[in-house]
Amino acid sequence: MAADSRCIRTSSALSNPPLTLRDLDQLGLERIKGVGPKTLVALEAFEVRSILDLLETYPRRYVDRTNMAMIADLVEGVPALVVVTVESTSAFTTRNNKKMVKVAVSDGTKRLNITFFNQGWREKQLYKGLEVAVFGKPELFNGSLQMTNPLVDPVGKATGRIVPIYPQSEKVRISSSDLATWIEDALNKCAPRGFADTVPQSLLDEHGFISRSEAMRAIHLPESIEAHQNARRRLAFDEVLRVQLMLVGKKAQWERESAGFSHETSGHLIDGFMKALPFPLTGAQKRTIGEIYKDLSSGTPMHRLLQGDVGSGKTLVAVATMLASVQGGHQAAIMAPTEVLADQHALGIRALLASLTVSDDSNLFGDRTLRIELLTNKVTGEQRRNILAGIADGSVDIAIGTHALIQDSVNFKSLGVVVVDEQHRFGVEQRSRLRDKAQESEHGLVPDVLVMTATPIPRTAAMTVYGDLDVSVLDELPPGRTPISTSWVHAPIEIESMWADVRSRLDAGEQAYVVCPLIEESEKLEVASAQETFDQLSAQDLAGYTIGLLHGRMSSADKEAVMNSFRSGATQVLVATTVIEVGVDVPNATCMVVLDANRFGIAQLHQLRGRVGRGKLLSQCYLMTQNGEPSPRIEALVASTDGFVLAEEDLKLRGEGTIMSVNQKGQSDLTLASLQRDLELIQWARDAAVGIIQADPNLSDLPLLRDELDLLFSDTDEEFLFKS
Ligand code: ADP
Ligand code: MG
Repeated sequence: MAADSRCIRTSSALSNPPLTLRDLDQLGLERIKGVGPKTLVALEAFEVRSILDLLETYPRRYVDRTNMAMIADLVEGVPALVVVTVESTSAFTTRNNKKMVKVAVSDGTKRLNITFFNQGWREKQLYKGLEVAVFGKPELFNGSLQMTNPLVDPVGKATGRIVPIYPQSEKVRISSSDLATWIEDALNKCAPRGFADTVPQSLLDEHGFISRSEAMRAIHLPESIEAHQNARRRLAFDEVLRVQLMLVGKKAQWERESAGFSHETSGHLIDGFMKALPFPLTGAQKRTIGEIYKDLSSGTPMHRLLQGDVGSGKTLVAVATMLASVQGGHQAAIMAPTEVLADQHALGIRALLASLTVSDDSNLFGDRTLRIELLTNKVTGEQRRNILAGIADGSVDIAIGTHALIQDSVNFKSLGVVVVDEQHRFGVEQRSRLRDKAQESEHGLVPDVLVMTATPIPRTAAMTVYGDLDVSVLDELPPGRTPISTSWVHAPIEIESMWADVRSRLDAGEQAYVVCPLIEESEKLEVASAQETFDQLSAQDLAGYTIGLLHGRMSSADKEAVMNSFRSGATQVLVATTVIEVGVDVPNATCMVVLDANRFGIAQLHQLRGRVGRGKLLSQCYLMTQNGEPSPRIEALVASTDGFVLAEEDLKLRGEGTIMSVNQKGQSDLTLASLQRDLELIQWARDAAVGIIQADPNLSDLPLLRDELDLLFSDTDEEFLFKS
């Protein structure tokens, strides 16, 4: 057969070595029995272009015929699987205009009636003579058993005891049983050579993985549920190992190729700062600063993620990091995503560093106070020129700002540390751009980078989303925090008592936030609704109190004025859109009302709620919804204030798609693996990848594995990969 001759040609002199993924990628589908030109076009539309694509089209589920029942044995109320032949199908429209399809089926022991509501397409799908697997709960109706809206999988003439059900495409008319037939043919044709195992045997042995050849067959044609599980585990491991090798390889390459500062991490500036702190560091802060200082003192540039829940004290860690650079006569920068946050950092950091001095030879007294400047887009004219000049001549020690900091006009004399705050929306590429920018300093050394995020990410997801960074976790809140109590509010009487509570807090001198409904589709509508909320509260529930309004369409100056007035306590209530989401710190604010809370995600609500509970007073968060059922998200927030618990919950509720939507390479390679289910596999893969890359950075001893990575990751991914 032509197919086989080509296989042999690819293998050249070696006698039929096992097939690699690249071999499979180069094998065309025309060699599959029954696949003609028309089917090729249809498969192409299905994005199946090679034998590799075909074999990586995994079953969506399986029909386990070993668990099959006979219609004659069905018991009312007990769900069961029957494999049956369609005898007749008829469609009706009910009196209330619903589509109803009735199907009579039989398995030779008895007949069974099936009724579908609102699934008009079943009339065409279930034609006479078709063999299908039906899973559902039999009910007694007019004296005989029937099923309503059961699960139906066409099994065709499939014979195995466990029948794979593939994703089908109505549009291009490829059925599950077509795919099953072609895949089985492909597996049979590949069987003599088998599949190359690119993962080192020692790893396979260590974790008890089956061979790739076994796994490929068993994922499609499992002999038992257990065989399927072993196959999935093995193939999922291959997926996560490849992603980890890519990320760890990229990280190692970057570390190899760039020269960084070796900062001095003890000295008068850092010591003075620590001594002046009005409180002891938390254990987590001590540990984290230790991890960072270890990175800082090594000549390899730091590339570390600091994860810490809201209020865990990240700012202090950031300042301790920046001071190491300043102490050695270099500069530091901290970049925040919004102007409000940059302002906030400027205030907080100036307060923390107010009494510190740095040695200065040009000064008669040998000392000067630190020069800390804020650079955002609203800083203009003379003032801006002044700051830019100070950044360029090195007299600005710490620059605080927004994206304005990485514009072309900003040139640091010697930037030793960069802190990026709240960058959870950024991916690998943005981070590298920041590094490139910073590298333009006169000595060409790469600054140490600390990325801070207040969005806890489950550990496994972090290993993938931030797989190219080291991770430190601030998992301990400073003492003296009062827990925030959270309630779901819906009924009118609850709403009334909520406003009464807000008023009594205001009367006691405390402050409150009211967060307006999120309207993602339109900022204009969101602003209008915030204005409306403001007007309504001023006239009704909070009449007589000083209320401020903050939204995204205000000028920077107006925003700043509103925030300052709230910080000073002159404004008692801040009505705001999500612009207050991150970082705002007003300890006297003890109460938050979130309107239409169902519109927000878990992470967002958690961030918002973190604005209260920052002082000694007991705080309260109200989550208001329109409809009478709290969403699982709201229930999660009421139940827990632990960001990591909530992040796990979020992952469960939303699936990984959303987490991985961060601009991140490698996610498309995860087909069988799941960030949620495969925690253990991901940890193993991470450890294995670190070990492999350490011993053999270019994978020269594992050419097949390396070739697989080259094949599966795009050119842009490869830029980072194993360039020696
Ligand atoms: P984050 O940025 O992680 O949300 P912050 O850095 O804003 O948290 O810190 C929150 C509050 O906790 C600040 O008011 C800060 O002064 C205070 N804080 C930080 N570290 C400690 C500590 N070790 N002990 C007591 N309070 C602390
Ligand atoms: Mg912060």
